[in-house]
Amino acid sequence: MIDEEKVIYLDNNATTRVAPEAVQAMRPYFTEYYGNASSIYRFGGRLAKVVEEGRAKVAGFLGADPSEVIFTSCGTEGDSSAILSAVNVMPNRRKIVISTVEHPAVLNLGKELERKGYRVSRIPVDSFGRLDLERAKAMIDEDTAIVSVMWANNETGNIYPVAQLGEMAHSAGALFHTDAVQAAGKIPFHLHDLPMIDMLSVSGHKFHSPKGIGALYVRRGVHFHPFVVGGHQERGRRAGTENVPYIVGMGVAAELALAHLNEENTRVKALRDDLQNRLLAAIPDVRINGDVEHRLPNTTNISFEYIEGESILMHMDLYGICASSGSACTTGSLEPSHVLRAMGVPYTAAHGAIRFSLSRYSKQEEIDKVVEVMPGIISKIRAISPYWNKK
Ligand code: PLP
Repeated sequence: MIDEEKVIYLDNNATTRVAPEAVQAMRPYFTEYYGNASSIYRFGGRLAKVVEEGRAKVAGFLGADPSEVIFTSCGTEGDSSAILSAVNVMPNRRKIVISTVEHPAVLNLGKELERKGYRVSRIPVDSFGRLDLERAKAMIDEDTAIVSVMWANNETGNIYPVAQLGEMAHSAGALFHTDAVQAAGKIPFHLHDLPMIDMLSVSGHKFHSPKGIGALYVRRGVHFHPFVVGGHQERGRRAGTENVPYIVGMGVAAELALAHLNEENTRVKALRDDLQNRLLAAIPDVRINGDVEHRLPNTTNISFEYIEGESILMHMDLYGICASSGSACTTGSLEPSHVLRAMGVPYTAAHGAIRFSLSRYSKQEEIDKVVEVMPGIISKIRAISPYWNKK
């Protein structure tokens, strides 16, 4: 078993530690109040109020009305629900517009829709991972049912101009959805000030609530076709017994994230910048991938050129340091990340890319330790790398 105390966890875009406040709030709903929130008797039925309290907290976090929040099982479900709803409610429109750097949750759904005969246009990015907005404008037309572009990228941390894209979608009569799985809790926003966003998905486990719970915002007035069909839960918009403990946990985590967002962003960004700048100063042939001007405060994606990300991660693991090479969903494939490929990052740099992602629980001592061990790890791997020796 890994000594948990010694783990340096810098993979918070993959998942986060559940906030102790959320764990404590959830506990009684496993042990004492385990009824079904849809039951008639009070032991279950009174939990409906607890579900609504959780919904109100998540709505507050998003700047939405509670009636606009549907609980889901994860970010992936929110993304599928939004996009499939749009193609169902607009059967005469046969096209969707996404970007080349979406999470597989959206990219692979796009491929699935293509197999079913829909057209999918993918907005390209430049070498900094910035979207080509001129191309986006040209792609969005009268045949487009929905434009779905992520608010922030999970690999580079790049932040995308969702308000502008939403306006482009509306001017063609299309709906606009954003995958805000990485943005929520890191970018301040208030959805009632953003009427161009019709739907938005979030995932609890990215902001210190448990895995297995998420939410989909559907702006009031937007016609919604359910993805999970069955019982009457969530006012007929998402069937399945309400996950009371996790809804409680997500409510608490959302409240905490909202209350501390600005101070946490400032602290986390300072740590991230310190990590990045010291690594860049200590190690040769290193580059940052992404748009450093428009990036999440907790993320940096660094290429250690001429070596393999997987072997860097294995060496880091010996020191208990957790980070990632590409998104967790693509780990296991030897292909470099689709995001870095879309950006045209050269092969020798794309393979050695490591994403460091911090959270409110990251500490300066951890950053110091990473900066201390990384130069040794990189030169050890480079010493046996054929690409490094040939460069
Ligand atoms: N979208 C983005 C941008 C993500 O980073 C992730 C998870 O990494 C997802 C969607 C999928 O979220 P979940 O794991 O909750 O299904």
